[in-house]
Amino acid sequence: MPLSFLMNNQPLAICNVCQFPAVIYAENKVLYKRNVGDWPMCYYCKKCRSSVSCHYGTNIPKGLLANREVKVFRTLAHEAFDKIWMQRIMTRFEAYQWLADTLGLPLEKANISQLSKEDLIRTIEVSNQFISIGALIMVRRRKKKEQKEERKIKELYESIKRHKH
Ligand SMILES: [Zn+2]
Repeated sequence: MPLSFLMNNQPLAICNVCQFPAVIYAENKVLYKRNVGDWPMCYYCKKCRSSVSCHYGTNIPKGLLANREVKVFRTLAHEAFDKIWMQRIMTRFEAYQWLADTLGLPLEKANISQLSKEDLIRTIEVSNQFISIGALIMVRRRKKKEQKEERKIKELYESIKRHKH
């Protein structure tokens, strides 16, 4: 992150959702009626009511402004995408690298909080696809392992039978 960005008092002036220059840096009581969290600072668009919270102790936004619709897509995208590394189909790092490659974005932009609505929808689609394929591979692997064990047991049984006679 360039230092100029950190020094800027209002890094988000134009709303990335409605393109209107109505973004203010404010306490999040503008959203929730009272301040919420240890660091209640946020950016808020007076026109379309999109918002984004800031990193603790700074005026650095955690991502892009989002309206309610985008926030719902973010939650869904996290649910779908996180399964990939939580189910250990890939490591967390590999999963983000895969997402960046799939969306055609540099790795540092492949964060759920920085994705556009279109990219969030794509993340949900490709993650679900990937998980169903990954699950298939795991089922196939398990089946193969079971067949191998079955064969071993059968061979053992046959050899015991042979020894008896
Ligand atoms: Zn706006």
